[in-house]
Amino acid sequence: MSGFDPSQYGPNTRAVRAGKVQSQEGENSELLYLTSSFVFESAAEAAARFSGERPGNIYSRFTNPTVRMFEERLAALEGGERCVATSSGMSAILSTCMALLQGGDHIVCSLSVFGTTVNLLGKVLPKFGVQTTFVPLTDHAAWEKAITPRTRMLFLETPSNPLGEVADIRKLADLAHAHNALLVVDNCLCTPALQLPFKYGADLIIHSATKYLDGQGRCVGGAVVGAKDLLDEPVHGFLRTAGTSMSPFNAWIFLKGLETLRLRMEAHCRNAQAIAEWLEGQPQVEQVYYPGLKSHPQHDLAARQQSGFGGIVSFRMRGGREAAWRLIDATRLFSITANLGDTKSTITHPATTTHNKLSDAQREASGIAEGLVRLCVGHEDVADLMGDLERGIKRTTG
Ligand SMILES: *Cc1c(COP(=O)(O)O)cnc(C)c1O
Repeated sequence: MSGFDPSQYGPNTRAVRAGKVQSQEGENSELLYLTSSFVFESAAEAAARFSGERPGNIYSRFTNPTVRMFEERLAALEGGERCVATSSGMSAILSTCMALLQGGDHIVCSLSVFGTTVNLLGKVLPKFGVQTTFVPLTDHAAWEKAITPRTRMLFLETPSNPLGEVADIRKLADLAHAHNALLVVDNCLCTPALQLPFKYGADLIIHSATKYLDGQGRCVGGAVVGAKDLLDEPVHGFLRTAGTSMSPFNAWIFLKGLETLRLRMEAHCRNAQAIAEWLEGQPQVEQVYYPGLKSHPQHDLAARQQSGFGGIVSFRMRGGREAAWRLIDATRLFSITANLGDTKSTITHPATTTHNKLSDAQREASGIAEGLVRLCVGHEDVADLMGDLERGIKRTTG
């Protein structure tokens, strides 16, 4: 153990120091323990570790020192007791549900969550007797109405992707707790640099580390953060059996990513705000969706609940799918890819990519119009990004 008590330090110090374990070699940068298994000094020591009588590593599906460093650092940033790292964001959600729910249980989930989350909760879990009701993220009455005596979990993302709708975490946490259910918040888009859901009563935080925690688009991974009694046995116990574990190599990338997370998020927010404001002035753009704009319906809530508005800017072009596709194809700097949270800015047409599995009715209900374009603003010069978008916008009219 490092002897570093995160509660004694500010968030910037925690981001670079928390969780570090020093080997006898005296390295300053955290070690990558690229090993699948660990050796024991004796047969008796092996027996004591396997029986749980003595702590220590056995096998990297269970625990690994690099993975543990990442878990401790992320827990310290979110202000949670314990973190369990997983092989992807989806396996974080799967492991949480498999560990904490059973057949007959019920989930209430926002309609505006990641598309694969809709599939997991709506199509896969029902095979095991867990049902989900989907409700509009910002419609508090709909959340309340959807709760049944079997409801064990409320699940949401805020801000939502791609439209940036913002939920009142405190209100939904109070609602969940009044019905003996857990509030699970997917904090992927804000990260602990911009939003701390535990402050508002959330019970569990989910991450796709693939996105901003890595920040440079290299590795797939995820995490769950929360109280020890939920994570130690239930979630970690499921993971060591089911094998939804994070690889040590990926953990090392994410661990080092956390060190620069706050600086990177500040730059994402600054660039996104400038581009959102500029887009609002373009006549071919019908509407811009960014919580940092005064025109955003939950701007005040976002300003209270978040310390920054994030890197995702969406906008609806006049001229529907044709105009959106022409604009996307005319850009040269933006990467046409559905990933987000990268230093490289990306551009996507949600209706035909990230949200293509939804029915027309579901797309309609979640506001994914044919003219909608999503930007994940990276770290290029803002003037260069605007120039690229301007060329694309001109192409849609001429
Ligand atoms: C990408 C994403 C996920 C899934 O994460 P993977 O690492 O791709 O499995 C979950 N939630 C949100 C909000 C995401 O953006």
